Formats: sequence, structure tokens, C-alpha cells
Amino acid sequence: MFVHIDIDYFFAQAEELRNPSLKGKVVVVAMFTPRGGAVSTVNYEGRRYGIKAGMALGEAKKRAPKDAAFLKADKEYYAQLSFEIDQELRKIFKRITQVSIDEWNAEGGEKEAREAKNRIAEMGLSCSVGVAPSVLGAKLAANAQKPKGFVVWNEEQERAYIEECEVKKIPGIGEKTAQALNSLGVRKVKDLKRLDAALLIEMFGKKGGGELLKLARGEYSKDIGEEGINEISTLTTLPRSTREREELFKAIKQLEGKLKERLKALNMAFKTLTIMFITDSFKMHTKSKTFNLLTAEADLDKEIKALIEEGLTLFGEKVRRVGIKFGDLEEIESQKTLSEFF
Ligand SMILES: [Mg+2]
Repeated sequence: MFVHIDIDYFFAQAEELRNPSLKGKVVVVAMFTPRGGAVSTVNYEGRRYGIKAGMALGEAKKRAPKDAAFLKADKEYYAQLSFEIDQELRKIFKRITQVSIDEWNAEGGEKEAREAKNRIAEMGLSCSVGVAPSVLGAKLAANAQKPKGFVVWNEEQERAYIEECEVKKIPGIGEKTAQALNSLGVRKVKDLKRLDAALLIEMFGKKGGGELLKLARGEYSKDIGEEGINEISTLTTLPRSTREREELFKAIKQLEGKLKERLKALNMAFKTLTIMFITDSFKMHTKSKTFNLLTAEADLDKEIKALIEEGLTLFGEKVRRVGIKFGDLEEIESQKTLSEFF
């Protein structure tokens, strides 16, 4: 069996966690871009006023009551909280992958799922959990009853739910694919069965069409997948706790080498470099810098040294573990090979 864990309205809930006076009020976490602000996450109180993720801030403010809290997203804090949840979950599940900042896939049954939900509740957070015979089923089960859901399906229940599901609700089926399927008369997953395998492959390619065929046949994924590829990171425990710049730098350089290899293998580039410090009291502090877009070839020595310097001003303790993270990953356009031209 598989388990999917999804923290409810994560950013807004994280804000409620560190400022309990926000509980019961409308909480809107906003992101700002050069083009203006937009709602990143809103709690359920806010959803009752029709405020949604992606909505322009001006619009959200019009809808919100006077005592609503509008907060700027604090990504470092959310990442730290996410990391702490991840650490707890890894104690429960042997095989687990983090698929986004607030979602995990794991191998396990109802017992482990219950344990995970309780552990997260002890941290002061609510989540929705799905347990099903496939990864897809577990994800849909977690989505089926939000917030604070706990849904367990057997094979029959899973299949019944998925077959009645609209194709656009299936993770991995994008809007374009859903529209193309709609134009073929396919609205629900069960309608896919009417389509010819050759047609699916021709329209959506070997990979995409193949996935749809499996979906039609009820062969749902049993692979918990790779770690979320929006960011990659690695941590190490230092031989001794220290605040010595040189020791920290040396350890981070080693991690950097590993991480760059992984970045290259993924054929990706990154925008954000983060250095993580875990102190003797197991608190995590992070310092980040954002760039245009850097590949594995970039020389980061100067930046790493600066981030270590800045990081050490955040706390007085010695550092027990260090880590490095490449965030906001983007795929590098694959270079056309000569063979494509001849
Ligand atoms: Mg969530």
C-alpha cells in the first residue's frame, strides 16, 4: 500500500503556527513579483470569502474582512518547517520521497499513515492523508477529503473513484491534454477505454499516450518517484561542531560537488543557492541567494563564503550539520544533436 501526505494550506498554516492569534482569522500569504502581488496560499476561513491561490492581491483585499492578515511569504521559514516534517516522516517510513514542499509519497499502510498524521499534529499542523494500493490512488484519496482528511481505499474503491474522476483532475494530465481528450469525447477516466491504443500513442506520443493507456487499463503507478525536482539538497554531519569558517566551507564544498553531479544528471539549472546550518540544539537556519539561472559549471566559492558569513550572524551556537540546496530548478533546453539534422 501507498500513503500520500499533504499538509493543509501549508504556508498559511505555518503562519498560524508561529502566530496563534491568527487562528480563526482570514490568513492570506502573498507572493510579490515585478508585476504585482498574488495570493500564494489562503486558509479555509479565507476560502469562504472566495479568496483563491493565484488571485491578484487587490482582488483578495476587496473580498477579505477588515481583520484579515495579509502576509508576505517567508520561504525560508516554510522550508525549515518542511524539513522538520520530513525528518519526522523519515522515522516512520522506510521508503519515502518528498514530492513538493508540503507533500510526500511513501510506501506503507494505514498504521504508518495514522502515525504520520499524529506526528504532524504533535508539531501543531494538520494534514490530509490518503492510503491506497497505488501512488495515484493515495494522492487522490488525500485530495478527496480536505482539510484534515484520512481516507483509506482498497483496490475496488480506488478503481471506482479513479474511473469516475475527470481526466483533468488526474495529476500529470495537463490542461492541454485534458482539452484534447475532451475533444475526443473523453471527460472521465473510464471514457478513455473507448479510445484506440494507436490513436492515443499518435496523439500524445509514446510516453504520454502510454501513460494514458495504463490509466485506462487500471494500471496505476506503484512508484513513489524521485524526490521533488524543484530543488535538490544534501546535508552532512560535521566531524565536530564548529563555527570555524574554513571547516564549514570545506564541508559545504564537498556537498556542492555531489549536488552539482546530480544537477548535471538531471540536466537542470538553478536560481537559488541556499546554505543550511543545523546547530547543536538541532535548530535549522538558512541563508539564500537568488541568481538569474546557473548551471553545474558555475563557480560558487565566493557566494558560499558570503552565505556562511551571513549565516553565522543568525545564531550564536556551534554548527553540527551543514547542507546546501539548489532551488528553483529549471530544465536546460536539450541541445539538438547532429543526428537530428542529418
Ligand atoms: Mg498542501
